[in-house]
Amino acid sequence: MSSPSPRTLRLDGPGFRVTACRGAQDCPRRVLDAPGLPRALAAALEALAPGAAPAPAHAHTLLRVAVAYCPNACSQPQIADVGAIGAATPAADPAACVACGACAAACRESAVDLDGLGAIRGIDATRCLGCGDCAAVCPAQAIATARRGFRVLAGGKLGRHPRLADELPGLCAPEALPARASAILAACLAARHGHERPGDVVARLGAAALAGDARAPGRD
Ligand code: SF4
Ligand code: SF4
Ligand code: SF4
Repeated sequence: MSSPSPRTLRLDGPGFRVTACRGAQDCPRRVLDAPGLPRALAAALEALAPGAAPAPAHAHTLLRVAVAYCPNACSQPQIADVGAIGAATPAADPAACVACGACAAACRESAVDLDGLGAIRGIDATRCLGCGDCAAVCPAQAIATARRGFRVLAGGKLGRHPRLADELPGLCAPEALPARASAILAACLAARHGHERPGDVVARLGAAALAGDARAPGRD
């Protein structure tokens, strides 16, 4: 396997590549600490890939897993076979709010709902990306992080027919992610026609079918 670089971590093995953003090391934007996750993913894929990928593996046939430790998604998980994006889900406590407005100012997604007096009413989950910024700036602990984990995506790719990965429901605990990623890839490989990429399988069958096959501990 290759060695980690100071910034992006890339681990190559037989038939696979794991890429992780700087959040595995020292990026201050990371929303969770899981420095051992890339190597755990590589170990899980090492057990999966030899029988699944042609040898020697070509760059375009590698199974690709990309991990980002915050919603900025610097490792491009949206175009990986399996992607993971760190998220910190906020929960508001309106009773503790002092109506300073800092949370709304910090939120780049306009997901904080304030009332006419500037006090928090709640968080719009359909807009929130789980960056954790609102909780970090709140001076009254009126926003707490309810959950931390990884959003899981499947079926992204570039090539002749690029597609962005579909997101599966829920958050995955870091310790459950290697098994979950392996299960998703195994389901894709089992269902593929010929040399289809996982993204082609996801496009054909839908991410929901794969999510059923790939249910794993740690999932919502
Ligand atoms: S995705 Fe987030 S944690 Fe990872 S390098 Fe980018 S900003 Fe840092
Ligand atoms: S976690 Fe981030 S995106 Fe979600 S409400 Fe807070 S600041 Fe906005
Ligand atoms: S930052 Fe905290 S105290 Fe200020 S408006 Fe938001 S929830 Fe209320």
